[in-house]
Amino acid sequence: MPKLEIGVLIGLVDDMDEQFRHLTGLGLRHGQICSWEPQRWTPQTAERLKESIRQAGVRVTTFWSGLPGPAVWNFIDGPTTIGLVPAAYRAERIEALKHAADFAVCMGFPSITTHVGFLPEDPNDPRFNETVDAIRTVALYCRERGLGFWFETGQETPVTLLRTIERVDTGNLGINFDTANVILYGKANPVDALDVVGPYVRDVHAKDGFYPTNGNELGKECPLGEGKVDFPAFVKKLKSLGYAGTLTIEREISGEQQRIDIQKAVELLRPLC
Ligand code: MG
Repeated sequence: MPKLEIGVLIGLVDDMDEQFRHLTGLGLRHGQICSWEPQRWTPQTAERLKESIRQAGVRVTTFWSGLPGPAVWNFIDGPTTIGLVPAAYRAERIEALKHAADFAVCMGFPSITTHVGFLPEDPNDPRFNETVDAIRTVALYCRERGLGFWFETGQETPVTLLRTIERVDTGNLGINFDTANVILYGKANPVDALDVVGPYVRDVHAKDGFYPTNGNELGKECPLGEGKVDFPAFVKKLKSLGYAGTLTIEREISGEQQRIDIQKAVELLRPLC
């Protein structure tokens, strides 16, 4: 079986050399770059970033593109604010994702990734078809440019995600499977979810956490290895499906503790690869 690579999700900031030093200091050569600031997605940024990537010898697996407008990370306001589901922000966000795709092309990245939102579980909900149409617009734009369009998991059940991929049907769709998100949103056990969407997994956010304990708030994220994700079982199953990609560590805190937790995550994942 092919050996999996480990990567880290890193932000697009002014000093990318420092970001990559952290990555390579951990003995890693893979990463995803994440940005919620479309004003940074320029040819000028691309030129500098290309040079930093070249010098660091790093491979970027996707451009994780945040969207303009509000995003409230809970069960009450999330459905009306996140992704392409809320009609009020849809047109602006389609344009933002096209902008992200242009930046990814400029950089030579293979794909863009985003949260499309709380996809309606009921396919008869009119927002379902509207969202499918919006995703298709972006996915076709990506396809014309040789890019993949990847879904960040979490806000929908695996079967709803599968149905959405089938309906959009552009042939360049994939999943960035966040192992914690499906738990934080109470939507699935990540190991079992692979039975449903496993063949579409193109990259992984290796992240850990707990199920929700009330109906309003997401479960809590935690250091990898301390939450509900069974990483040995998840990685074993992923490999049995023929997955040969990356396990990209995500830790949603900042500062020194983030670095410590990422280091521990690398140590925990390495024997599983
Ligand atoms: Mg994630």
